[in-house]
Amino acid sequence: LPDFRDTGMSKKLLNKLVPELEQAREKMGRKLRFMEVCGTHTVAISKSGVRSLLAPYVDLISGPGCPVCVTDQSDIDHMIAFAGSEDVIVTTFGDMMKVPGSTSNLFQERANGADVRVVYSASESVDIAIKHPDKRVVFLGVGFETTSPGVALAILWAEKQKIGNFFVYSANKLTPPAVNVLLQDPDHRIDGFLLPGNVSVVVGREGWMDVEKANMPAVIGGFEPVDLLSSLYLLTEEMSKGRRQVVNNYKRVVKEEGNTKAAALLGEVFSPCEMAWRGIGAFPESGLRIHHRYERYDAALQIPVDKPVTKLPRGCQCGEIIKGKATPFECKLFGRACTPQNPIGPCMVSGEGSCSTFYTYERHQ
Ligand code: SF4
Repeated sequence: LPDFRDTGMSKKLLNKLVPELEQAREKMGRKLRFMEVCGTHTVAISKSGVRSLLAPYVDLISGPGCPVCVTDQSDIDHMIAFAGSEDVIVTTFGDMMKVPGSTSNLFQERANGADVRVVYSASESVDIAIKHPDKRVVFLGVGFETTSPGVALAILWAEKQKIGNFFVYSANKLTPPAVNVLLQDPDHRIDGFLLPGNVSVVVGREGWMDVEKANMPAVIGGFEPVDLLSSLYLLTEEMSKGRRQVVNNYKRVVKEEGNTKAAALLGEVFSPCEMAWRGIGAFPESGLRIHHRYERYDAALQIPVDKPVTKLPRGCQCGEIIKGKATPFECKLFGRACTPQNPIGPCMVSGEGSCSTFYTYERHQ
């Protein structure tokens, strides 16, 4: 395999890409707009300098690719409410701790005495449930096709071991339906999609057939500089074609049909449902609800909570940023009232959020 971080190869690709982009910009009479639909891409594009290098020709905008950022405010409130329940241990990935709910966040709840623990996997939460049989352990499921199979496995493991005090609150989501919703927006102003390599490992190239049917330029790409630049080159090339296909530029890990075992695991434990996304709203088949076969593990059904009235953070533009209709720089709070130390919205909390990425890598450009 070539070295996908190779500087010489990256320079060659850049020299090939820039004239293509210049030509496309001239033809369109404006800068191009490509959307990346993955928080890992958002970080990789900024960290490698690709976003600022190509800024004269193309706006590389972030879409709904950060799972923490797209979690609806009412789900965040629901998750925080578990921390206030008696005998409950809440387990979560670290970047959920500071996501602001309408009245509190998990970090504050822990400071007030709630038992909130950071875990690295859903199955670690099953271990906690085994160690604390007198408590109910609620794992907060936030993620896309990449992490959801791990949650499914944890539920199956709990079932096998007959663990009765482990629960999951699933805000897990499916990525292709969100891309389709953006495509259906007549004002979307997107010229092409850089599709997530990690999600595509599970859904395969086949998972993006609606994008292909819409004849939208789209390339599945990896995360190293050579991956990014070659994917953007292919994306620009696709623009000039009459009939487009979703290009798989991450063949070393993405198969046409995806990972059928992971997909089967998701199908066994979850069923697709309508789910609300921050900024986008609710739309069908975009969420993963725990299948009724496993409903004894469904925290939403088994542990009733009192939620506050949902309020969005005032002035926060996360919803618009997630849809690709604004950049972090367009938010008046960016870098002033809102910083990673004092985040107002989820896009500044998560390490894969656009605002925290722009704060870390793009602020001084
Ligand atoms: Fe929200 Fe802060 Fe981003 Fe503004 S800078 S959109 S307040 S997260």
